[in-house]
Amino acid sequence: MDLSRRKFLNRALPAIPCAMTQVQCRHSSEQVSMTEQAADARFEPSYLKAERDGRLARLEKEFWGILENCRLCPRVCGVNRLKEQKGFCSSTARLKIASFGPHFGEERPLVGTGGSGTIFFSNCNLLCCFCQNWEINHRGDGNYVTHADLANMMLSLQRRGCHNVNLVTPTHVVPHIIKALRIAIGKGFALPLVYNNGGYDSLETIRMLDGIIDIYLPDFKYQDGAQAAKYSSGASNYPEIAAATIKEMHRQVSELQLDSKGLARRGLIIRHLVMPDNIAGTDRFVKWVAKELGVSSYVNIMGQYHPEYKAFDYPEISRRITNQEWTQAISWAKDAGLIHTDL
Ligand code: SF4
Repeated sequence: MDLSRRKFLNRALPAIPCAMTQVQCRHSSEQVSMTEQAADARFEPSYLKAERDGRLARLEKEFWGILENCRLCPRVCGVNRLKEQKGFCSSTARLKIASFGPHFGEERPLVGTGGSGTIFFSNCNLLCCFCQNWEINHRGDGNYVTHADLANMMLSLQRRGCHNVNLVTPTHVVPHIIKALRIAIGKGFALPLVYNNGGYDSLETIRMLDGIIDIYLPDFKYQDGAQAAKYSSGASNYPEIAAATIKEMHRQVSELQLDSKGLARRGLIIRHLVMPDNIAGTDRFVKWVAKELGVSSYVNIMGQYHPEYKAFDYPEISRRITNQEWTQAISWAKDAGLIHTDL
């Protein structure tokens, strides 16, 4: 089933307080059972070792320290989020979530039969003018929840048979995720974490996540800083930042590794959205992947761009891509020698 992310958001369980209450009640009286995948003796999420050896506890402290003078992402706002100050992402130290639930529209190795357990965080640090989830990312739709609530969402997704927990737009809430993860671990959580980001994280943050995240799922949206600045709220250094952080992700988890059922267990999947007039620089992107990461890197070249939100303010991106543009994108990927694409 190919369910678009937008349709999924409308159907997923909203993160409303009563939903949280239901989740909490369900898990307070029972031990969460391991899913079939987590019970696979060959697989143990990296973060379990980090919790055992005390690193996760140290990381939690370090990440919360960063919020005092926030530099979690390349915007480097320097605000004290612990004192309710907001930076570019409009987020304080409080946690806001829009929805969570099994999602069947993600890449095949993430979906399997049970779905990818997505959790959509409200707000965003990149803010693209063509955002398809603008109500959540720009307007900040969602509900404030506790760390225990987030932990219970992770456990609920595991209990419902999802193959992973897919953290969507996690950059500005990494400290909250680590805190909730430790609570969930204590209650039997053992699914791989998918770090599903827009490609605009600080290198420091990604380095700190070494040994915590098993599957990275970054976007690489632009190859040109001027385009990034124009369409993604002044993020002119996006190409260098995305390239550096994706290389670091690849260093940590390497290429995508699947289990015997074809499910992702560890590794990197890079997403690239083809845009009208080759604004995303698809030809340069595929060459970069082939040269810097290798032709067997798993890449999802996506053709579903459609104008949303403020895209209509820019005539050049106020249309879908043409068949010719899509065919050209595929051809560039093939010419670059990329083998593992979601085409
Ligand atoms: S996470 Fe938010 S507050 Fe922190 S640096 Fe990024 S945009 Fe600024």
